[in-house]
Parts: sequence; C-alpha cells; structure tokens
Amino acid sequence: MSGVFAIRQEMNGVAEAPDKTWFWELASGVIDADRCIRCGTCVAVCPSDSIGVGGDGLPALVKMCTGCSLCWDFCPRGGLRYETTWIEPGSHPAAPPGARPAGTPGDLDFPVRISGGGAGDGLGALRESWAARSAGGALGGPRVQDGGVVTALLVAALEAGDIDGALVARASATEAWKGVPYLARTPDEVRECGGSFYNQTMALGHLDLSGYDLPAHPRLAVVGTPCEVQGIRAMQAYPWPRGSHRVEAVVLTIALACTKSFDYEALMLDEIARRRGVDLDEVGKLDVVRGQLVVWDREGSELVREPVKAFHGAALKGCDECADFLGRGADLTVGNVGSPDGWSSVLVRTAAGAEAFARASDRLEVGPLPDPAALARLDAHDRKVAVRSLRRELDPDGAPWITYTEHVGAYEGSDRAPVG
Ligand SMILES: Cc1cc2nc3c(=O)[nH]c(=O)nc-3n(C[C@H](O)[C@H](O)[C@H](O)COP(=O)(O)OP(=O)(O)OC[C@H]3O[C@@H](n4cnc5c(N)ncnc54)[C@H](O)[C@@H]3O)c2cc1C
Ligand code: SF4
Ligand code: SF4
Repeated sequence: MSGVFAIRQEMNGVAEAPDKTWFWELASGVIDADRCIRCGTCVAVCPSDSIGVGGDGLPALVKMCTGCSLCWDFCPRGGLRYETTWIEPGSHPAAPPGARPAGTPGDLDFPVRISGGGAGDGLGALRESWAARSAGGALGGPRVQDGGVVTALLVAALEAGDIDGALVARASATEAWKGVPYLARTPDEVRECGGSFYNQTMALGHLDLSGYDLPAHPRLAVVGTPCEVQGIRAMQAYPWPRGSHRVEAVVLTIALACTKSFDYEALMLDEIARRRGVDLDEVGKLDVVRGQLVVWDREGSELVREPVKAFHGAALKGCDECADFLGRGADLTVGNVGSPDGWSSVLVRTAAGAEAFARASDRLEVGPLPDPAALARLDAHDRKVAVRSLRRELDPDGAPWITYTEHVGAYEGSDRAPVG
C-alpha cells in the first residue's frame, strides 16, 4: 500500500467533519478521471503543504490530508467555476461574490488585483491590443517563439526593478523538449527560457519561494497558460490560509493564448520521437501554426507538418473543458493568432499589464493588431468545444464554487465521471 491509500488508511477512525472535501475526492473527480490540467493550484493552495508532484507529474499526497477542502475548491477542474476569475469587460470587479461551500473567505490581506477597464470587443476586458516583436535583436537571446514579446517584457521589468523574478518554463536538463518550471531572476535567465513548451509544468506548485534569496516581500511575474492564471486569480481573490506558497507575491500575470496542452510522454516521446522517428535532440522549434503542428530542426528545415488533430490523443483531456483560449483573467495575454509570422499578438487587460507593456516599449516594434477577428474566431471555436465537454453550464456570473456532490451529480455516467 502506498501514497494516498496508505495515508488514508492511517486516518481511518478520524472523525470526519460535515462538508469536508478530502484530497481523495480531488483525486477521484479530477486526477484519476484524467481531467487534471496540471496547473499546480492544488499544490499551491494546500495550507498544510500536503500535496506535492508525483513521479507521473500529477498531484500526489505527500503527507496527511486535513480535509480542509481547499484543493477541491480552488481546482479549475474541480470546485472552482474558473470562468468567474475572468475580468469583466468594462468593469472594475473585486473578488467574485459568493460563499464558499465549507466556510467563508478570510479577510483580504492584500489588495485583489483584478481590475478590468476599457470596453471589451469579444476578446475579454481590454485596454489595448497590439502586434509586437522585439526590435533590432535587442533581446540578444537565442530562442523565442513568435515576436519575443514575453521575453522582452520580463527583461524590461527585471531591469527596471519592477519585479524580483519571473516564474517561466525552461528546458529540462534531462528530458529533451520538456518544459519545467523555473524562477528566472536575471535578464539572462529569462532569455534562456524563451520559446514555447507544449506541456504543462505544474507551475503554481513552484511558488514556494523558501529556497530562494529574495526580498521579504518579493514581486514576481508569472507566465503561464490561462488555467494557471485562473488559479492565481482565485487564490488572490480568496486569501484563505496557505502553506509555503507565496501567491501574494505575484504582481503580474502573462497568459499565453492556449487552446490545448499536451502530455509530454504522449506527444514528444510517443508521437514525435517514436512514431515519426524524430531525434528530439535535433529539434530547433515546435509550433502550432494555422491548425498544423510543425516541427523544425535546428537549421529551420521542417521535420513534421501535420494537422494538429492528428495529435489529439496526446492532448490533455481536461483541456477540452477549457473556454479560456484568451486568458481572460490575466494582466496581459500574448499569442500568435491574429498577427503575421514572427510577431506576437498582445492583449493588454489591466493597469499592471499596461505598465509592463509601456516599460518594454523601447525594446519593441509595435503596430495595430491586424486581425483581432482571428482571435475571436478561435476563441468561439474553443468555447464551443468546452460547452460540449463540460457537464455543467459555462457561466461567468455563476457562483464561484461547485461542491463535490454537485460535481458527482453532473459528471456521473459520463466519460469524465469520478473514478473509484
Ligand atoms: C501549451 C501552449 C499552447 C499555445 N497555444 C497557442 C494557440 O493556440 N494560439 C496562439 O496564438 N498562441 C498559443 N500559444 C502561445 C505561443 O506559443 C507563444 O507562447 C506566444 O505567442 C508568446 O510568444 P513570444 O515570442 O512573445 O514569447 P517568448 O518571448 O518566446 O516567451 C515565452 C515565455 O513563455 C514561457 N513558457 C513557454 N512554455 C510555457 C509553458 N508550457 N508554461 C509556462 N510558461 C511557458 C517561456 O519560458 C517564456 O518565458 C501557446 C503556448 C503554449 C505554451
Ligand atoms: S487541475 Fe490543477 S488544481 Fe486540479 S488537480 Fe490538476 S493540478 Fe491540481
Ligand atoms: S487549454 Fe485551457 S486548460 Fe488546457 S492548458 Fe490551455 S489554458 Fe490550460
């Protein structure tokens, strides 16, 4: 007997308070049901640091669960109605209203940074929208995905002293083309981490800053997929007691536009290396361009070009339930759809996002976003898939919390039903 079952066995006989939700319910409803999107929110939110990352890259219990319910409540595939973390176009919302099922939120101990503004145009809360790329090789870095805008923003923020570090992804030292979470604290470290990795990194589980030499009140940027921003927004809006993870340190969120992410082993090792015979050490870039998954070698020659749907089996099943292609809760969203090759599309949603973008302006060529309708079209398609896959209504104005019992009622009998 091991892991969660051993710990559960140890706890037999411990009286269960009413309304408690335990880690094993998160495991049953999300992880074992193959719906986990590997955002790491459950690791970050656990007040007793009872959740870690298992050898399979998924959340795992590392010590006794106290049944505090928080991992369930804050999981974007569990109790969190993730769309309530979106910034409402044209408004300045505070934390979304509603009572948690197993208690009430604690007092806010830092200002919630959700602050919309400007009229939305179907792309979510929007102050500005741009196409941009790093100007004249100012980055001096070897690898960026599109216009190198995310790297430029982070370098500018670090050099100006606006942030003390940026949680990004960098290449694993041991597994080719696997992104792992990394807290970059210098411009050079940021430059080394450019480019996209098509796997989730359990990023928010990396917000335990105790091993780092940082100021007492550090200020961090987080670059992540929209679901990771959802977790941050919810944890900042409801500052329930937490363990070692410093969610309050996050002062800037940059979402990478995202319709789906993949399982590393299934995509890179099985589909690309084994089935298509690609040596991953020779790969220079991987991208999804106009519905095609393209792999280039280091000299820029194409190794693979196939419709992305050919790789659907390697995608995370939980991504089907996601209607947040545009990262509607982030300070800034950056993607490539809507701009020419070599440029990034930038959606500036909040004051913090506008400040960060302005700070990098002397490093960027900036022009009007040429094709916002392309972003809106892909967003509409993404939402259609999500509405079909979710077993509940997609409702940004709904109650933020979904109880485990409600979840079971909605999902049972489906191919996404709780397991065990
Ligand atoms: C899984 C995934 C799916 C995407 N799907 C789309 C899409 O469908 N349409 C679209 O327009 N854009 C998509 N993007 C975004 C796009 O690939 C680029 O990341 C974006 O355009 C920014 O490019 P850039 O050159 O400005 O960034 P860069 O300057 O290259 O910087 C990218 C930053 O993102 C960080 N990063 C890379 N991968 C990850 C990751 N997995 N998790 C957390 N941080 C990471 C890097 O460390 C780096 O700091 C996706 C990105 C990812 C990771
Ligand atoms: S989706 Fe995120 S919060 Fe939910 S179980 Fe997976 S890693 Fe944890
Ligand atoms: S599609 Fe949605 S759930 Fe999946 S990785 Fe992207 S943002 Fe997260």
